[in-house]
Amino acid sequence: MSTKLLNYNIYSDTKSNLINEIFKHEKVHIVSGNPEVLFQGLNNESLFRNFASDKAIIIPDGVGTVIASRIVKQPVKEKIAGIEVMDEIVRRCAETNKGIYLVGASQETIEQCVLNLKKKYPELNILGYHNGFFDQENCNDIIEDIKEKSPYALFVAMGAPRQENFIIKYMDELPCKVFMGVGGSFDGIAGKVKRAPKWMINIGLEWFYRVAKEPWRAKRLSSIPKFLIQVIKEK
Ligand code: UDP
Repeated sequence: MSTKLLNYNIYSDTKSNLINEIFKHEKVHIVSGNPEVLFQGLNNESLFRNFASDKAIIIPDGVGTVIASRIVKQPVKEKIAGIEVMDEIVRRCAETNKGIYLVGASQETIEQCVLNLKKKYPELNILGYHNGFFDQENCNDIIEDIKEKSPYALFVAMGAPRQENFIIKYMDELPCKVFMGVGGSFDGIAGKVKRAPKWMINIGLEWFYRVAKEPWRAKRLSSIPKFLIQVIKEK
């Protein structure tokens, strides 16, 4: 089930159906489709080619994407937060003894993130991890390590579009089945940043909470109206 938005197919079914679908895929890139990422894709051919291909599932992760789906009269069933999808994938990997690998964030953050994940899921097999501060063009040691460990899922938290570029560049040569860019999620799991209170998430104001906490994010909101205008124009 999907919503057609600016030549993208946005996943429009529920989160629980999404998780089942992910585990059926041979190889898949889960894209957290907020307006900023989708707008970046419209202006970058390599991103667009991957996002619009059957290698990717774009989830409606952002109130702007949900509004856009209503504008084109193909509303998605629910907003799906990337961090919740990551948590579900990790939980299932722990239950079924599938290994995971984490790339991204600072050294201190990723180490704390690994500890917290192990605390939450004692059975979880974290096959390896690396911080997110390295040259993507010269990271053979990291790529070789991922190949050797052969994790089922690879989570990359380096912010958009850095993480998507990394995934797209290496997805074909890596043996992982699930690739997912998860933005600031490692900071969240490590307890460095808090998610908005539930009531704010429920009424679609998580973005407001993040901007209030980290005002430098405000300039990134400009992609929301640009994205929506493009959606309206193409309608
Ligand atoms: N980061 C990284 N490498 C870089 C730049 C950033 O690993 O070269 C990390 C940063 O430490 C943080 C995450 O990427 O953990 C960025 O998260 P942000 O909140 O910007 O992502 P968003 O959720 O907004 O996409």
